[in-house]
Amino acid sequence: MAGSGFSERAWDQAYRAAVAQAFGTVPYYREMWAEAGARREDPAPTPVTRLEEVLAALYPLGAPYERRREEPGWIGEPAELLEALRLTGAYRGERPLFEVRRALLDWRRVGRARYHVVLSADAEAADPETRAAGLRALRAAREPALLGDPGQLAELPDHPGGARLLVRLPLTDPAVSEHGAHEHGAHEHGAHGQEVHGQEVHGQEVHGHVVHDGHLGYLGGRDRGCGRVHVNWRRVHVRQTPAGPLFTLLRRRRPTLVGISVPGTAHLAVERCARHGTPVLAAREAVAA
Ligand SMILES: [Zn+2]
Repeated sequence: MAGSGFSERAWDQAYRAAVAQAFGTVPYYREMWAEAGARREDPAPTPVTRLEEVLAALYPLGAPYERRREEPGWIGEPAELLEALRLTGAYRGERPLFEVRRALLDWRRVGRARYHVVLSADAEAADPETRAAGLRALRAAREPALLGDPGQLAELPDHPGGARLLVRLPLTDPAVSEHGAHEHGAHEHGAHGQEVHGQEVHGQEVHGHVVHDGHLGYLGGRDRGCGRVHVNWRRVHVRQTPAGPLFTLLRRRRPTLVGISVPGTAHLAVERCARHGTPVLAAREAVAA
């Protein structure tokens, strides 16, 4: 990531531009001005848990939400996934990518690589044959990469020996703020009992970790070298507040997501990686009570 082109000033300007566009053109944010009775500098934080409720108001006035024609609002685009994977240093689009998900997705490619969904065991309304077909395709693939939550990866019936395992960590996972498990001696265990940020899932090496939120999408990845979770700053802005980080998607307009808080992340802070000079998520310094 040397020569990444990151500039603090340009990052903040991109955030300011996203805020101006939201206040100017998106009903949900415009109403904040009306309610405040004055111009606001920053939008009031919106918890991610509220987004479903206000979804229709998060689309620009000139191109409103159309329930019947709209893609699901939280899917994002393949480039967001590819960029998060590239931040790990463990995947560059050279292998077919299989992602374990609870629902199908009609993406065909991530960059130049083929993209496939393998339905998880708890997939919504799944025809069992659809899941079986995904697993067959995975077994038949040559040197695939396989991405999923730690629990989803562990519950797959078997892994093809050549699959490169990539873990999708929720933003709320405690491992997000750690400096890479390979620098620690001890293993810790997540809610499912697997090693969530160690280097293995059921005996197989994990090659990379991306960080994901169900509404905000793929936010970044853990660099294999420095061990820190790097934010995909070209697409994601993080603003630190006393209550925790606020996320803004700099390029997504449908829906427009500006100043979004995520419950369970008050312990996170945005810092600069000492090695790369770009934004990383870290554990907040303890605040004196
Ligand atoms: Zn770094």
